[in-house]
Amino acid sequence: MRKKIVAGNWKMNMNLQDGVALAKEINEALVADKPNCDVIICTPFIHLASVAQVLDSKVVGLGAENCADKAKGAFTGEVSAEMVKSTGAQYVILGHSERRQYYGETAEILKEKVELALANGLKVIFCCGETLEEREAEKQNEVVKAELEGSVFHLSAEAWKNIILAYEPIWAIGTGKTATSDQAEEMLAYIRSIVAEKYGNEAAEETSILYGGSCKASNAPELFAKPNIDGGLIGGASLKAADFKGIIDAWK
Ligand code: 13P
Repeated sequence: MRKKIVAGNWKMNMNLQDGVALAKEINEALVADKPNCDVIICTPFIHLASVAQVLDSKVVGLGAENCADKAKGAFTGEVSAEMVKSTGAQYVILGHSERRQYYGETAEILKEKVELALANGLKVIFCCGETLEEREAEKQNEVVKAELEGSVFHLSAEAWKNIILAYEPIWAIGTGKTATSDQAEEMLAYIRSIVAEKYGNEAAEETSILYGGSCKASNAPELFAKPNIDGGLIGGASLKAADFKGIIDAWK
């Protein structure tokens, strides 16, 4: 049975002290009331090592929001997959639309990042999703397929076991405009079908596919009730313990 997952993506929010305090609060809440799903928090690089110290890794996983496309060396300001791993993190988000859009991350660059992350023992939460314009032109399937083909569909079946997919329609991120549960289900079913074409039915059934984009405690139950939606990648609503816990509880 594939894993159900709720993952937070803090993005560029919170200083170190506030981040550690939030991680502690989330950890305490989940140790007291065990979740029915895997919970992961993905933080800015500067939080990772300290947050790792306050999490019970059996209850809350830890991930980075990015890593470098080079293994090591003279790349000022970059943080490698190996460095991420050494903090105690187990995951990394790659392919987020904000990285593609604002930092020019192409399919090629993302392919390098994915390979380095996997080679260093990180699991990858790989994001895909279309713009509003692309959806209005009914190109969403084409766009998502190209993103997966460009950066992850070259992986071996063995490597694929460490991939979690997250569909995040760009028009739903931080806009308060969630995809309807039917729209999300339709896309996730499509994604599962192309994973099946590439890696076979069994692998597709084992792949966790998340929805992201204005997911919150009020809409999570309806989204998570859909057969292909295995959880959420949460931005804004992962920044307060009670909000995040509310989404996690949607699996109960
Ligand atoms: P919001 O939940 O703030 O819409 O962000 C979604 C997201 O981009 C998570 O990666």
